[in-house]
Amino acid sequence: MVDFEVRPCRQPVPAARRKELLAAPGFGRTFTDHMVTLRWSTERGWHDGRVEPYGPLVLDPATSVFHYAQECFEGMKAYRQAGGSIALFRPEENAARFNRSAERMAMPPLPEETFVRALELLVSQDSEWVPDAVGTSLYLRPFMIATQPALGFTLPSDSYLFCVIASPATAAFGAGAVPRPLTVWLSEDYTRAVPGGTGAAKTGGNYAGAFKATQQAVANGCDQVVWLDAAEHTWVEEMGGMNLFFVQRSDDGSPRIVTPPLTGTLLPGVTRDSLLTLAPRLGIAAEERRISVGRWREQCAAGELTEVFACGTAAVITPVGQVKSASGDWQIGDGEPGPVTLRLREELLGIQHGHCPDPYSWVHKAC
Ligand SMILES: *Cc1c(COP(=O)(O)O)cnc(C)c1O
Repeated sequence: MVDFEVRPCRQPVPAARRKELLAAPGFGRTFTDHMVTLRWSTERGWHDGRVEPYGPLVLDPATSVFHYAQECFEGMKAYRQAGGSIALFRPEENAARFNRSAERMAMPPLPEETFVRALELLVSQDSEWVPDAVGTSLYLRPFMIATQPALGFTLPSDSYLFCVIASPATAAFGAGAVPRPLTVWLSEDYTRAVPGGTGAAKTGGNYAGAFKATQQAVANGCDQVVWLDAAEHTWVEEMGGMNLFFVQRSDDGSPRIVTPPLTGTLLPGVTRDSLLTLAPRLGIAAEERRISVGRWREQCAAGELTEVFACGTAAVITPVGQVKSASGDWQIGDGEPGPVTLRLREELLGIQHGHCPDPYSWVHKAC
């Protein structure tokens, strides 16, 4: 079992300043007093685990991650519970996905219990940084980078750094009970992921390649890009940070949520999986099925597709109100957050914050 030495920070952020920061944290702008570091080398395996003061990493300019982007990361949250304790949500899922990403990037696996232990230690060390309003949380960012200082590019690095940082957060796109619906841009010229590529791995390169399309989306008055399949530019994949769900009405009027299947080119979201499990218990059928842009548009026009929402750890569940593309624009329903979207959002936040029963034992007490 890998161990961590705790080296407490001597100059933590003063309590009054921390309170100010926690009142309106935004997303990913302020960081807690500590971080976790853990190193790996071919000779020693995982070693030198620490909880230490948050601060800069000093790296040789030849460090391979700077040149070849061999890295992977995770995104998860610690939630203040009704009774004051702090919980993680399905951390074993993030640990398993982290290892799948590492495997794809030819990086060493990290034992799942070490991954979860690192999170628990950081959360308990910086527990005062976990905000308590519903819709706020402590965002946790575990990541691993290749640290060999060498420009050779045929073989993967022989050393790695695993690190976890933490940042108090308001849900992305607003914490309010009714989030503002997004306007999305269908990217018809750029592609996020291809079969055999890295689309299913949580790795920075997928994001680096997406900024150009996001700039195009913003230039067209949109918030986010919807990515389509690489071969036909027809099938909806995801939003490059959030998975997508479509709400359809069955013939008898009952709602059904549909999300594209995991084809290897989209990221298997923990939120996506949780909703597929959760919805049927709320009387909402759930299905994995591919959906084309043409059908999306037709079904909106026919009133058969009444809501669309995006989901992910950062965004929780956020409605989509409008779609724009080079070949035309349309509105989803009345453009306002729909009842299925809001119901699922309330249930998910309720479980995460310990206000609703947790029938699947997803909530993992951290401290
Ligand atoms: C992290 C991520 C998601 C959402 O996954 P969650 O586990 O639900 O947070 C969706 N798409 C991409 C590309 C991602 O990186």
